[in-house]
Amino acid sequence: MATPLTASQMLTALIAEGLDTKERSGWRTHDRGNRGDGWGPVHGVMIHHTGGTAPSDGEIVWSGRADLPGPCAHAYLAKDGTLTLTSAGRANHAGGGDPAVLSAVIAESYTTRPPAPHKHDGSPGAQDGNARFYGLEVSDRGTGSAWPAAQYEAAVRWATAICRAHGWTAKSVIGHKEWSDWKPDPAAFDMAVFRRDVQARLDASTKPKPPTASAPASENHAAPQCET
Ligand SMILES: [Zn+2]
Repeated sequence: MATPLTASQMLTALIAEGLDTKERSGWRTHDRGNRGDGWGPVHGVMIHHTGGTAPSDGEIVWSGRADLPGPCAHAYLAKDGTLTLTSAGRANHAGGGDPAVLSAVIAESYTTRPPAPHKHDGSPGAQDGNARFYGLEVSDRGTGSAWPAAQYEAAVRWATAICRAHGWTAKSVIGHKEWSDWKPDPAAFDMAVFRRDVQARLDASTKPKPPTASAPASENHAAPQCET
């Protein structure tokens, strides 16, 4: 159980991890308020792909779509590895998912991967993931093609930064496809490999952890393929 990072704490952690970070004006207070189960305690981070690579995708992550208001993630990661911060509170990225997966993430008790999800947004018994996970939307068509090295490395660093700030291991990192049984993202790799890379980075560096504190709040779901 962890109190969400404040916007400043999030920014400090991301910069300390070496990310090329851009602050979208207003990102610190851009969130979904206290809808659903609100925002926090937080238990992990979730990786998404946008499902397209249009220049407007970053705007969609910020503003949402007609059927789903933004923000649709805490940050948007471009092909070149540039990270744009879009929220420090509740964001519409995870939607409903399997509480058994959340339990495994909280306990960091699984081996290679958490139990396969059997829930999705709107299904009976689904858990509000937007209250519990930080989310990253990565510009990618979702065809399964590998991400550019700079983009993949930045995604690893984003996840590592937040895990380090909270004292979590890489087992607190999941893909949207591991949370919801109708989601395919990210399609480019096996999340077990991504977790291995995050853990290697956590183990290799001993950067001091930023202090944790409280943060603002934020609905359900994500973007360009915003979830839901
Ligand atoms: Zn997603």
